Amino acid sequence: MEHVVASTGKESLQPADMMDFHQLFLTLPGAYIVMAANDPVFTIVAENQAHADIALADPATSVGKPVFDVFPDNSEKYRTTGESDLLNSFRKVIRTGKPDTMPLLNYDVKDAQGKFVEKWWRVTHYPGRNTHGKVAYVIQATEDITKERVTAKKFEMARVQLDSALDVGLVSTWYWEIDSDIVIGDRILARSFGVSAESAANGLPLGIFIKAIHPDDRDRVTAAIQDCVKTGVEYEQEYRTIDVSGKQRWVIARGRRQEDADSGMRYMLGIIIDLTDRREAEEKFRHSNNMFNALFQSSVLSVAVADMDGRIIQANKSFLKSLGYTTRDLRRGLTSRQITAPQSVEVTTQIYNALRNDGQTESMEKTYIRKDGSPAPMLVSAVRLPDNENQFIAVMFDISENKKLEAINQAKDEFIGMASHQLRTPATVVKQYVSMLQTGFAGDLNKLQKEFVDKAYDSNERQLHIVNELLKTAQLDANNYVLTKRRKTVAKILDRASNEMLELLRSKRQKLVIKGTALHSKVYVDATEINLVMVNLIENASKYSDEGTNITVTCTKLSKRVEIAVSDKGVGIAQDDIGRIFGKFTRIDSKISDTVRGSGLGLYLVDKIIKAHAGDITVKSTAGKGSTFTIRLPYAH
Ligand code: ADP
Repeated sequence: MEHVVASTGKESLQPADMMDFHQLFLTLPGAYIVMAANDPVFTIVAENQAHADIALADPATSVGKPVFDVFPDNSEKYRTTGESDLLNSFRKVIRTGKPDTMPLLNYDVKDAQGKFVEKWWRVTHYPGRNTHGKVAYVIQATEDITKERVTAKKFEMARVQLDSALDVGLVSTWYWEIDSDIVIGDRILARSFGVSAESAANGLPLGIFIKAIHPDDRDRVTAAIQDCVKTGVEYEQEYRTIDVSGKQRWVIARGRRQEDADSGMRYMLGIIIDLTDRREAEEKFRHSNNMFNALFQSSVLSVAVADMDGRIIQANKSFLKSLGYTTRDLRRGLTSRQITAPQSVEVTTQIYNALRNDGQTESMEKTYIRKDGSPAPMLVSAVRLPDNENQFIAVMFDISENKKLEAINQAKDEFIGMASHQLRTPATVVKQYVSMLQTGFAGDLNKLQKEFVDKAYDSNERQLHIVNELLKTAQLDANNYVLTKRRKTVAKILDRASNEMLELLRSKRQKLVIKGTALHSKVYVDATEINLVMVNLIENASKYSDEGTNITVTCTKLSKRVEIAVSDKGVGIAQDDIGRIFGKFTRIDSKISDTVRGSGLGLYLVDKIIKAHAGDITVKSTAGKGSTFTIRLPYAH
């Protein structure tokens, strides 16, 4: 058996002093095995202890044997393809005379307890030359790199995780040299704290970052950092910052104090996680939750959550109060059937059908029944809960007050109708008798008598006028109103109205000017009713204007309708009052209205009559300058 020896070149050394290289080889900490370059046998010529240990072999038996007999190539590749990477590597070293490192090898070995442990090896083949310089041996060096490999793998994993976290912009890293007060951070940190990425990379004093913290959180964060520096406790704080765009962000920062063993330099190292999106989502959720709760607790609306089988699951105070139930009753179980009045069973079925088919209902009138058996009319609308198909939320508005008011209003209308009817007959009789006196039927009247009788006639006329307006109003309100329509030219309508107004206009020395392009246009109207409209508008124009002013009626042809505008130069109407003048019994205070008599019903009737003719009416007015009332009526076909 040959020994591997090397010449030291120091011939002066005595043999006794010379190193026993063979012994050295055997005890080297690295694992080595030496093969003769006798391809294809590759006889093992030496194996050191370290190799024997990892290969579970015994140098005494392996030396002198072909290497593949002792250590057969049991690689996957060899078994499947018959090609051996080991053999190839041997041959390469012999051919090139250069070392060859093989791909990493995974080869598990038994530990002291006989348990297999995963091992990773790096195998390198070196050429071993004889005295002629020829490659006569292949030296195999096997390094156990399991530890490095595990560390590298862990490191790689951590790097991938950090990279992906950094990529999505959620995690940033920072480093603070405590004594020199320099903070170095990445671009995400820079963004969260409103500083430039470049300056954060170069380093900034901690104070700059502290300044970007929301004032309400600043002291708490500073204290926590100081605590960490002083005591070494872990630093962890959640707080708000103001970012580059001035937007508030939520972050959580974690860090740890470290000390360099050699230099004694103290530093803090940490990360910051951006929680803004999560916080905002939480905030939105909280907000909508609060809104819902506010709505739920509202004392105006009754709110209940029920299931499609009609069981009431949740209800607010207002709901319970309007129906006279208690929370206890609700806990014991309350059903839709229990609270539905018999006359509303059908509406309830409609509600459930709409919920099933469309997921929601229009608002509907439903009469509920209180615990004491009395009816509770409500306006209800319901919608199915998006996250629970079997439940819906119903919102109810108590309309019992409205119902009461409606009833009172109706009674009032009926009263007005009845009273005015009763008043008209005697007033008409008075009119007849006074007329008889005026015409001398009961003998001639002296001047004073005549004056008194004329005054009585005028007052009675006014009373009759008001009674007629009241009657008409009652008729319209009760929908007891039938139009008898005929084709009429605008000229004819205006003729009749202006004739009726002659007396009034003369008494106020006012001139009525009628003009426009539509005088011969025809409209389809109830002549008596339209006359009432025109008389009212012209009368108002006269009443609310000074003596001697002009009143103009302009009729214009529009594409589909005729427009008739009555303008005056009177007191006008303030903008705030315009919306009210068509109301029932509405009179607006002005310097003239105190002296002018009126019931406040005229424009109410005008508006109703025009609408009944499928027309409309608008007003333009400037206080102190005058008003224009414009009606539009469809052409007669
Ligand atoms: P009234 O019987 O009081 O005239 P109306 O319903 O006809 O009732 O009119 C309502 C109110 O509108 C009047 O009291 C008056 O203040 C205002 N008004 C109506 N027409 C005119 C007008 N041409 N100029 C100024 N104010 C007017």
